[in-house]
Amino acid sequence: MTFELSKEHEDFRRVVREFALAEVAPHAAEWDEQHRFPVELVPRMGDLGLFGLVVPEEFGGSDADFTSLCVAIEELGRVDQSVGITLSAGVGLGINPILTFGSREQKERWLPDLVAGRALAAFGLTEPEAGSDAGATRTRARLDGDSWVVDGAKAFITNSGTPITSVVTVTARTGERADGKPEISGILVPAGTPGFTVEPAYRKLGWHASDTHGLSFSNCRVPAENLLGERGRGFSQFLATLDDGRIAISALAVGLAQACLDACVEYAGSRQAFGRPIGVNQGVAFPVADLAVAVEAARLLTYKAAWLRDEQAAGRRGSAEVKQAAALAKLHSSTAAVEATRLATQVFGGAGFMEEYPVARFYRDAKILEIGEGTSEVQRMVIARGLGLPVA
Ligand SMILES: Cc1cc2nc3c(=O)[nH]c(=O)nc-3n(C[C@H](O)[C@H](O)[C@H](O)COP(=O)(O)OP(=O)(O)OC[C@H]3O[C@@H](n4cnc5c(N)ncnc54)[C@H](O)[C@@H]3O)c2cc1C
Repeated sequence: MTFELSKEHEDFRRVVREFALAEVAPHAAEWDEQHRFPVELVPRMGDLGLFGLVVPEEFGGSDADFTSLCVAIEELGRVDQSVGITLSAGVGLGINPILTFGSREQKERWLPDLVAGRALAAFGLTEPEAGSDAGATRTRARLDGDSWVVDGAKAFITNSGTPITSVVTVTARTGERADGKPEISGILVPAGTPGFTVEPAYRKLGWHASDTHGLSFSNCRVPAENLLGERGRGFSQFLATLDDGRIAISALAVGLAQACLDACVEYAGSRQAFGRPIGVNQGVAFPVADLAVAVEAARLLTYKAAWLRDEQAAGRRGSAEVKQAAALAKLHSSTAAVEATRLATQVFGGAGFMEEYPVARFYRDAKILEIGEGTSEVQRMVIARGLGLPVA
């Protein structure tokens, strides 16, 4: 048993950290202020191999592991949550469904550009009337000759409207099952398909440098072979996709909580009040000590879940164990990150409320961690069900 990442993982962490400090940190405040998605950064992340970590070499990836992806997301998240979610969603929601469920042709068509950072893909699950209850999707797709015709709308879709977005995986009702429930399937809709409209970017509380749009589909026709995996498997596809995504969001939250801890320690040691550093006061130092505990717990839960995910990929663990670990990690880490930003802002006093300091941006960026890829309530639902409780 070991509680350490491998030397390879730690070496890789240093590489990503250097990249984050050199290429991301100097611009993070400006991108945030301008609400600008830094599209020019995506190929540079691709050059570093970040999008191809879980992708086999034949499609341009390095066939590393899910743990490496979490390391990269954590390190980017320490300096810029928007860039961290761009990677997390780019791989977890963009590449992952195609890699896991796509045909050979689909993988060959889409993955090389996505891995290189020449393109981004998105995952359109949430709808204006179907979020936590994602199975209530209203978007429909009907087979008409050799085409699927998609009609409906999606809400809050990450990476869906960038200048390099190539394709969106959309969940849609494709019929009715024998038990009367909707048959849901995944369909690949290439960017620029007539009838596929990307709505204007949202005005968001945080993640200002991340790309988020509503999407609408009106008589949007794509070839029949754009069906992702088997017809009617869309529900189980998105549940599996979300399990991975939750571990990735947990890593993003660890990065944010760690950044807050670092900022608190530094500021509490240097800021003077009453003739001495504010960290002399137990009222300041003890919450920072509590934060160190929360960060450590979040990191352990996250990397245990990532390890289980890698074990699952090797056929040594089952999906139920991964699902539970992912929900546990995401629930704890996102809560810890929100608390961490609240504390950091408090430790910084008035300066913490000013955009000159990253903690103000961290405070705005944190809240979404408790919402995206399943809210905290949904994580509790998953965990309670995993415990065998008959929760509705
Ligand atoms: C910036 C951003 C990026 C996103 N990116 C994507 C993306 O790329 N792809 C995608 O498909 N989606 C994306 N989402 C959507 C996100 O996953 C949903 O917002 C989230 O799952 C919640 O759904 P909802 O907003 O419809 O809230 P609702 O489902 O309406 O929930 C509202 C509240 O009710 C609570 N609630 C609902 N049902 C229950 C219940 N049974 N028990 C207890 N409480 C309950 C929820 O926890 C929540 O607090 C993104 C969202 C944001 C804000």
